[in-house]
Amino acid sequence: RAQAIPASTSHPKGLYLLFATEMWERFSYYGMRAVLVLFLTDAMLMDKPFASKFYGGYTSLIYLTPLIGAYISDRYWGNRRSILVGGLLMAAGQFILFASASSYGPVATHAASHWLLYLGLGAMIVGNGFFKPNISSMVGSLYTPGDSRKDAAYTIFYMGINLGSLIGNTITSLIGDTGHANDFRWAFLACGIAMTVGTVVFNWGKSKYLHTPQGQAVGTTPAHSGGINGIYALLPVLLVLVLGVLYLDSAKFPTIAPLLAVAVVGIAYMIFSDKSLSKADIQGVLVIFVVSFFVVFFWAAFEQAPASLTFFAKENMNRTIFGFTLPPSIFQNLNSIFVISGAPIMALLWTALGRRGNEPPSPVKMAIGLLLLAVGYLVMCFGVKDLQPGVKVSMFYLVALYFFHSYGELCLSPIGLSLVNKLAPVKFASLLMGVWFLANAAANYLAGYMSSLYPDPKSTAPAPVLLGYHINNLYDFFMVFVVSATVAAAVLLLISGKLVKIMNAREAEAA
Ligand code: GLN
Repeated sequence: RAQAIPASTSHPKGLYLLFATEMWERFSYYGMRAVLVLFLTDAMLMDKPFASKFYGGYTSLIYLTPLIGAYISDRYWGNRRSILVGGLLMAAGQFILFASASSYGPVATHAASHWLLYLGLGAMIVGNGFFKPNISSMVGSLYTPGDSRKDAAYTIFYMGINLGSLIGNTITSLIGDTGHANDFRWAFLACGIAMTVGTVVFNWGKSKYLHTPQGQAVGTTPAHSGGINGIYALLPVLLVLVLGVLYLDSAKFPTIAPLLAVAVVGIAYMIFSDKSLSKADIQGVLVIFVVSFFVVFFWAAFEQAPASLTFFAKENMNRTIFGFTLPPSIFQNLNSIFVISGAPIMALLWTALGRRGNEPPSPVKMAIGLLLLAVGYLVMCFGVKDLQPGVKVSMFYLVALYFFHSYGELCLSPIGLSLVNKLAPVKFASLLMGVWFLANAAANYLAGYMSSLYPDPKSTAPAPVLLGYHINNLYDFFMVFVVSATVAAAVLLLISGKLVKIMNAREAEAA
């Protein structure tokens, strides 16, 4: 039977195990995140700017810990054990949030529920650090280096991500975002169950399905051992973690930038001082760093979804359709819906262009992604231009925004995962996946900060100012993203030729 399917189009069964595991995990992550900011404002009684920054701090740390998880996995645990530990921690975190939200009365009056909130989110931050980089790099490990099916594999994997997000977000919006603050707990409970299922599924199938085409087990052993004494290298990393949690504890901490800078410098030093890497290896790693910088501008704007864009849905948009009023958090699902339906279209498009020899190289695809993101916000700007106070905007604009953002994401995100996997020297595969996620850490922090500038017509405080630019209304607010994404896209396009040249040299050497 295996022979009936040409090897170039069929995929190893292990891919579907990783697909299923990631699907349940993303159910848990996005399902929770979809209602988090509303939980913070409506149940924990935080104001919107504070809740926005809190959200940014949380998701920023979510993307910072993969670095630590990747490091431990590369040197000590291997992918499989890291995924199991991460899965268990994240399930525990969701159940702790369930406990936090169950002590509602209102929650804000209970110190215990606040501590449980921190503890639950902390467990998820650490757990995600073990889980996310390992599952992402394992996808590529199921194939021999240079296998042309890798891009497609990451696209399929990406559909698992979004299927999980779609199911999770739908369930948590319907059972948690009901308008009654004490219902949020049901969302967290559902997420805890989902994460448990994912961990069990992974544990069940791991030995059976996770191997290379040659039949060698994948993810059982660390990618490399030796080198710097592990304990010493771990110290600064642990420090980063502790500072990070402190930061989460107080949204007053000025910026996460110093933490990220320490992390980036540390990794760069570790990799660039490694004598076993060739010149092409090093240049490939440089490309990963450069590309990661540009995607910050993408995610900072994109991750407004559960924050300012959900405030928008709640306060400024008509949510009634066929006499039924939709919960504000449910609109984030449009992203998953467009990604799932769009992924095959994009895969076909790239293949068709590839056959004619004019498939854009990865950095160009990413620049296109940034441009589509800008278009999404531009459409939104039309919707809110000269908006009279109290007038609600049609949901068309938000639907269109998510449409463009999702196609932008498809041009940028799966392509990026695959690019990192291809360019990273094997011994640093997971660590460099951590660098890719570090870009998200910076971006998510910025996203929370940006969302805290969301204009509030009821507020008597002076309009927020960003680098001298006054954000007086929704139009000004959304315009920030139009401009930043367009500029980033233009610069990336300008340097893409150089990046592609390095990538080709790296691939020629690997072949
Ligand atoms: N939606 C994707 C995921 O959850 C990408 C997230 C990201 O890189 N910001 O994996």
